[in-house]
Amino acid sequence: MSGPQVSVLGAVLSVLPDWIHPRQDASVVPRGVIINHCTVPGVVALTFDDGPYKYTSHVLDLLDQYDAKATFFVNGDNWVQGIDNESQPWPSILRRMVRSGHQVGSHTFSHVDMTSADSDMRYQQLHNLEESLTNVLGVYPAYFRPPYATCDGDCLTEVEDMGYHVVNFDIDTKDYANNRRNTIQNSKDIFSTALDAGRSNDSFLVLCHDVQKQTAMSLVQFMLDKIQEKGYRAVTVGECLGDPTWNCAGNDGDWFNEWWNGGCEPLSRYFWRESKKSPSGGAFCSATGEW
Ligand SMILES: [Zn+2]
Repeated sequence: MSGPQVSVLGAVLSVLPDWIHPRQDASVVPRGVIINHCTVPGVVALTFDDGPYKYTSHVLDLLDQYDAKATFFVNGDNWVQGIDNESQPWPSILRRMVRSGHQVGSHTFSHVDMTSADSDMRYQQLHNLEESLTNVLGVYPAYFRPPYATCDGDCLTEVEDMGYHVVNFDIDTKDYANNRRNTIQNSKDIFSTALDAGRSNDSFLVLCHDVQKQTAMSLVQFMLDKIQEKGYRAVTVGECLGDPTWNCAGNDGDWFNEWWNGGCEPLSRYFWRESKKSPSGGAFCSATGEW
């Protein structure tokens, strides 16, 4: 999928007045830095990278059972292809994430190292996933988890230009290195040790992977039990950073909120609208309303 160069995009955006800027909002969460920690006390933000995959639905079932919220940093072409192909299970899994109150973030289209990529590649990696997610959800994410946890220098600047918050983690469960029945305990121990050392007003931002069988089948339930036992709440990354629900709050007085509130459900927390569609464009709301 071809698109404008990031410099062209930046030039176009820079001449628009702020109120119509499709990639800005009044978020309290910074851009242009790598965020490693939650700011809201007493919460755990579980994050799942690299999906969707065949274990993702089971992870969603478990989260539902515990009334827990989490964040999925998805790829467009990694463990599966065609996340916007309606003949595949992936679109409905992505919609279930949002419907269930989870957050969907970007992890690039095909899981490239964004620090070593060039500018064109970085733009395409973000833009192509935005297109796929827009096809499925009508919106695209405001949060980005860099593959290999690396986004330095120009990467950070360019990702900021595209409006993303960049989020890493402060607990790495290392589930990718312990995806065996007899080693997943190592990941459980990492998680347990961190939470046991915490105080009630601490918070944690946790890296794991829903594409790993032992994560889905063993680690997730363990973590949810531990979160309950320690009295923490499992929340999305946006919530753990105090990011307000801006799309449907309806009190900003801007045209987007007024338009969005015209009959839409508040589905798009932590998402942008599709920037190509205008208030007079119409179809976006009814399309998401059919979920
Ligand atoms: Zn990854």
